[in-house]
Amino acid sequence: MTETLERKQSMTKLKNFEWFCPQPFMNTVINHDGAKKPCCVLKAWPGGRHSLDKSAESYPQDEMDVMDVHHTKFMKRFREEFMNADKPTPLIDKHCLVCREQERLAPTESHRLVYLDKFDEEHGEYREHTEDLESYIDTDMSEPFYLTMEYNAPNNFCNLKCHMCGPYNSSTFAKENEALGLTEGKGMGSSWLNGRTWVNDEDDMDKYEDIIKNLIEMKLVGGETLALPQNYDMMDKAIDMGVSGQMRLVITTNATLTPKMGKYGDIFDYVPHFKTCQMNISIECWGEKNNYIRFPSKWELIMKNVRRFAEMPRTRILFATCVSSLNIGYLNEVADGVDILQEETPDIYNDFATGSLVIGGANLYVVTAIPHDIREQYLDKIYSVVKPHHTQTFMKLASYLTDMEWDEELHNKMMIDVEKRDKYRGTCLTDVFPEWKPYYGNL
Ligand code: SF4
Repeated sequence: MTETLERKQSMTKLKNFEWFCPQPFMNTVINHDGAKKPCCVLKAWPGGRHSLDKSAESYPQDEMDVMDVHHTKFMKRFREEFMNADKPTPLIDKHCLVCREQERLAPTESHRLVYLDKFDEEHGEYREHTEDLESYIDTDMSEPFYLTMEYNAPNNFCNLKCHMCGPYNSSTFAKENEALGLTEGKGMGSSWLNGRTWVNDEDDMDKYEDIIKNLIEMKLVGGETLALPQNYDMMDKAIDMGVSGQMRLVITTNATLTPKMGKYGDIFDYVPHFKTCQMNISIECWGEKNNYIRFPSKWELIMKNVRRFAEMPRTRILFATCVSSLNIGYLNEVADGVDILQEETPDIYNDFATGSLVIGGANLYVVTAIPHDIREQYLDKIYSVVKPHHTQTFMKLASYLTDMEWDEELHNKMMIDVEKRDKYRGTCLTDVFPEWKPYYGNL
């Protein structure tokens, strides 16, 4: 008893670190191209064909398993930076751009803080693992401590081509880029795609056994998650190992397809094997505007599927949006739509929360591409129609609109992109978002 108390007192506490993030210690993201990284929002992470260490003996990540990558000097340095924030943090500064930027603009809101809050000793979703994580970081970390995993199958099939997406995550977007002669940016030149529009490689699930056996959360993403055979193989693995009942299954889906693709059937047949399930429904707006950005989806079909997902056992639904130049002025409609569903069935639908800020890399649909007059209209809307219980979320969006600098060059590139895609798709931005009229058709 005294020994346990002494151990607890001497243990490094997460809250004592200045800028800690749990992800590099307990989460792994397997990328389409075989890269392994600690979270999905990291920027400029080396691709799967590249090694993380520069030494001659190091291997490309796609030839290494999760623990090989965990043991690289690079990953050790990355983890150390979170534990020594008073020293220079070159890897964090480079790769954690999204969180750094989110916290610069709104100090209480970032992916990092969301993940950290899960380990809050009082209310955190993973609070029963907080002590284990604290004792783990006091070890040499040679053993795995992976509680959560995000699996991006080596398959970029998706039936949609959302504006802020790219060829790397959508074969349909890649095909459109090919038809439009757009060969640069947004992953078109990635060594994984290597000139192809659709990649669908086999993956051996046996190599993930060591990680799967300890998971409390398995997250499957896409492409379109529910249309990738590898995702059903991954769920089969967890079920057949007898460990699916210990984990939450998290599926990110555009909710437009529910194929019978696995040996147990469709997603409705798989979910009952897991402890709980969360369906993250990717939308950008509520209703018709969503059909425009997440082209060519149909809102009625999405909502029909969402209502079916809501009937699955032990399942919760989260509507997840990006924050982009096209939807930032309309997220209040998503918040209101979710409020109505919550009133109908309070135990099923999670609170509205905006997802990732579209920023950096080859992204065109960034808040910086919105001209000042349109920003004014969006800010007026935020200040006049947002319901009081959403204030915190929308103040974050207001600070993006106020503080993110206007980038005229990016704006021009975005308008060219919109117009090209509109012409090809037979759509028109200003039919759906009329505030862009002064800038449309001029280039
Ligand atoms: S700080 Fe942000 S970007 Fe960096 S690992 Fe954590 S969640 Fe990912």
